[in-house]
Amino acid sequence: MKNNTDSRTIAIIGGGPAGMECAAQLKTLGYKCVIIEKGDKLGGNLNNWDRLFPEGIEAQKVVKELAEKTKGSKLFLNSTIESVKHEKGKYNIVVSGKDIVEADSVIICTGFDLFPAEKKEEYGYNIYNHVITNRDLEQYFKKRVDSRIQNPSKIGFVHCVGSRDEKVCNRHCSKLCCVTAVKQAIELKEIFPKSEIICFYMDLRMFGRGYEDIYHDAQYKYGIRFIRGRVSEVSENIEMGVVVKAEDTLQSKPIKITLDLLVLMSGMMNSHTASQIAEQFDAPISNDGFFEQSSRTLSKNSVGKKGIFIAGTSTGPKTLPETLNDARGVVLEVHQYLSNL
Ligand code: SF4
Repeated sequence: MKNNTDSRTIAIIGGGPAGMECAAQLKTLGYKCVIIEKGDKLGGNLNNWDRLFPEGIEAQKVVKELAEKTKGSKLFLNSTIESVKHEKGKYNIVVSGKDIVEADSVIICTGFDLFPAEKKEEYGYNIYNHVITNRDLEQYFKKRVDSRIQNPSKIGFVHCVGSRDEKVCNRHCSKLCCVTAVKQAIELKEIFPKSEIICFYMDLRMFGRGYEDIYHDAQYKYGIRFIRGRVSEVSENIEMGVVVKAEDTLQSKPIKITLDLLVLMSGMMNSHTASQIAEQFDAPISNDGFFEQSSRTLSKNSVGKKGIFIAGTSTGPKTLPETLNDARGVVLEVHQYLSNL
């Protein structure tokens, strides 16, 4: 059958950067797109961020540009999928109990959630006054208001919060939090130039282009210290200081330090909506909690079900450029699939 692209509809589950890029690219091929988003706006987790590494581009600028490119797609906001039926080669998707989307193909772009830091009670998030997360810090960068951040002179960052951690069943590395910690440490140092900043890390994973340069600048231009060691305990003293106990594993010595602010680098997990979406579209979830791919090398955007594809961070942690590339890749797969029907 000839693939008349303008008679085909693709349902995109999730309106984050992957979903938006899919819609933009499918539109250029002539497909009709329907984006089904659970939140009240497009952009997903990008809406929680201020600036992005390595260039410091504003997250909102990216959201705006991507949203502009999706114009012409049908958009359901504040919407959930109630049920899905696969009949005569089409997916009939009931959205929020009232609308029915009839799709020839579906792309799952449900993205990720940040690990809820309060689950690591030993770090004291939501217990002590001056313990915040990477996401809280981005909100501070945006608005410059947070009662927990009061001209701090000693600041600590804890890497790998909820990642590489068997105790919370997350063995995977979230990949981006090392460079995010370094980026955020530099930004804090620029706001509070007299502050002393220490990053407590297990390994530093600075894999991307330009990341080593950021790390170099953090050390030699901004004087940020990096201590290899896991934080074992956090408490609060009578002056509301954050008391951190850790082990310096390079020097094999225990450390006890009092800080004015502690930032927890929450890692990435699959979206809390993933298990329901997986069930509705009969898509497999892997041991790490992310969606499984037919092949992680050769068929990374397929879940092995006819007409169902997947993209973005729903299959694991990715940078924004990787997410956008993944979205462009899945569009080609969807196009080939529909052309061969
Ligand atoms: S990127 Fe760094 S902070 Fe994040 S999980 Fe991996 S090692 Fe830990």
